[in-house]
Amino acid sequence: MSLTTKIFIGLIAGIVAGLALAGAPDFVDNFIAPIGSVFINMIGMVIVPLVFSSLIVGAASIGDAKTLGRIGGKTLAYYLFTTAFAVSIGLLLGKLINPGAGLSIPTDAAAAAASEAPKLVDTIVNMIPRNPLQGLVSGSMLQIIVFALFLGVGFTAVPGDKGKPFINFFDSLAEIMYKITAMIMNFAPYGVFGLITPVVAKNGPAVLLPLIKVVIAVYLGCIIHAVLVYSSAVSVVGKISPMKFFKAIAPAAITAFSTTSSAGTLPVTMKSCKEGLGVSDKIASFVLPLGATINMDGTALYQGVCALFVAQVYGVALTGGQIGTIILTATLASIGTAGVPGAGLIMLSLVLTSVGLPLEGVALIAGIDRVLDMARTTVNIVGDASCAVVIAATENELDVPREEVTV
Ligand code: ASP
Repeated sequence: MSLTTKIFIGLIAGIVAGLALAGAPDFVDNFIAPIGSVFINMIGMVIVPLVFSSLIVGAASIGDAKTLGRIGGKTLAYYLFTTAFAVSIGLLLGKLINPGAGLSIPTDAAAAAASEAPKLVDTIVNMIPRNPLQGLVSGSMLQIIVFALFLGVGFTAVPGDKGKPFINFFDSLAEIMYKITAMIMNFAPYGVFGLITPVVAKNGPAVLLPLIKVVIAVYLGCIIHAVLVYSSAVSVVGKISPMKFFKAIAPAAITAFSTTSSAGTLPVTMKSCKEGLGVSDKIASFVLPLGATINMDGTALYQGVCALFVAQVYGVALTGGQIGTIILTATLASIGTAGVPGAGLIMLSLVLTSVGLPLEGVALIAGIDRVLDMARTTVNIVGDASCAVVIAATENELDVPREEVTV
């Protein structure tokens, strides 16, 4: 049985167990949730060394600043364009499905305080680490990315062989992290079971029903975006059939769905892209760690749906200009969203503020956010993978797949 099938069985078993154990929260918390936490911790253990080492090697192997600029430029353009498209799909579905219609706001939920969104300009300034070691220790991904890119580019400027030992070390570290990921993935079926059971037990039908239209809009939007954008991108540019693409990326997609963390899924995304889709090491090591941090199509789409939902609930009619502002802010906000569970909800306040919608709307979404996070994180990482295929194809770095993804 392939690993994907096993993970899928873990997912289904988790849903069944969650429904059965909805009345036994103590049992779920004490005996099932820890299995999920062990899995999350193991994946978390690999993230910082993997992102750091693979980006250094990625930037260094791309070579001169000119090539890096070209590949970086294409990657950013793809990320930004697909994200803006995703918000638009979210807004359109929010309009068509009208999830806020007829919903009365429970006053206590509306009164709950919304968390403050970090300012965008602060995010940009803080990307540059004053103390890179501190950035590494605290796991601040944008800082780690910036420092790693500097190190990779710095290496290419060192004449002769002087920089070689440094790169060899990180190349070897990346390879080891990659192997550790493969080991951890053997535990994934159990980890997924441990993660999904508590979510289903806590967010049973009773919690979901009042906001079911929001859930439908986000899930439908995610499917439409994946089918429209990623299928066409990988088949037109990458000459890979969409079926093959989605099959190869399935282990990463299920991991994202259950962990709700793009950063946590990164090791699996890299593995699936390299082994299942034939993306070269060089491109995968550059495009994917970057994407796990800054490319969040699912998050942007969710913000589009939620902004319209909040406007509908509070009876605010949005103007064309405000819709434009939402597209822009949600695209930028998704860049600043960390690839960790629930980060998108915090950034939603940024989007709501930008068009003067009440921040209390965040509290309405909070109860079902985990269920929405599962869909948006999945789209986030599938989007990264589609970009890796597209960039690799345009750079002649897409090899014939080495093997089907089996660990
Ligand atoms: N959980 C998402 C991710 O890691 C971010 C979000 O909350 O939207 O990709």
